[in-house]
Amino acid sequence: MITGTTKLAAVIGSPVRHSLSPVIHNAAFAAGALDWVYTAFEVAPGKAAEALAAMGVLGISGLSVTMPHKDDVAAAVDVLDPAAQALRTANTVVLQDDGRLAGYSTDGAGFVASLREAGVDPSGMTVAVLGAGGAARSVIDALARVGIDHIVVINRSAARAEAAALLGMGRARVGDVADIARVDLVVNATSVGMGSDEAPFDLALLRSSQVVADLVYHPIETALLRGARRCGATAVDGLGMLVHQAVLQQQLWTGVSPNPAAMRAAAEHELVARHG
Ligand code: NAP
Repeated sequence: MITGTTKLAAVIGSPVRHSLSPVIHNAAFAAGALDWVYTAFEVAPGKAAEALAAMGVLGISGLSVTMPHKDDVAAAVDVLDPAAQALRTANTVVLQDDGRLAGYSTDGAGFVASLREAGVDPSGMTVAVLGAGGAARSVIDALARVGIDHIVVINRSAARAEAAALLGMGRARVGDVADIARVDLVVNATSVGMGSDEAPFDLALLRSSQVVADLVYHPIETALLRGARRCGATAVDGLGMLVHQAVLQQQLWTGVSPNPAAMRAAAEHELVARHG
């Protein structure tokens, strides 16, 4: 039951009503019998700093941050973790006991956790990251931190690819689709395949020895992942990243490790309810 002592976390964004985060986080609070509740606040563009100020005033313990506020939040909090500092974006805020606000970026670490959950250790691997937007940048930063051999960044617009490769700590360069056939791990971090049956590249480039990860999570089984399984490669879906970045958020807010299986089941159920 929600009482006067129930702790509050929420996602801020615009638009935000479609967010799966309330479903995922509340499932974990329920599974762990934590006296926490999670909701969503529609916060207009440019109003992130005011939302952060409200955190302190109202005692909102934790925030998730989504578009368009991630950069503004990173600029406004008191302290940033190394990933958020490198990316200059934050997807998580913690109201600390001393009243200061700490910003974190859990997307990239969530992606690495989803690989590990699938039995894949990315350290020492060669990787192709398709895309150079916010998700790709988080993945490149996190892979560089776990000792990847090297990363090839492949993106439609070259300037964004160059900027994203700079996050690779000297282990990343810009490449092209021909590189896909030569790497151990292929990551689709473009939005191609979101809500469609489109593949981001010619699937004939895939090999059975590869790991293929898709950050797209609707549909959960994308055309890319179907193609990967068909050729005998290991397929890792985007729901794993979505769940594990939320696991890391809850660890930061509550100090307790939530149950990822409960979170994933809730997300899958919600996706089926929405899209069939
Ligand atoms: P973003 O910042 O808007 O970046 C989109 C990327 O996709 C850019 O690299 C863009 O290339 C590329 N792109 C878009 N349409 C394309 C097309 N038709 N052909 C080739 N490239 C195309 O978005 P984002 O936040 O990085 O998100 C990317 C995807 O990851 C989305 O599907 C999102 O839902 C998913 N995502 C998943 C998780 C998760 O937890 N699983 C977390 C975050 C994001 P240009 O630079 O050339 O425009």
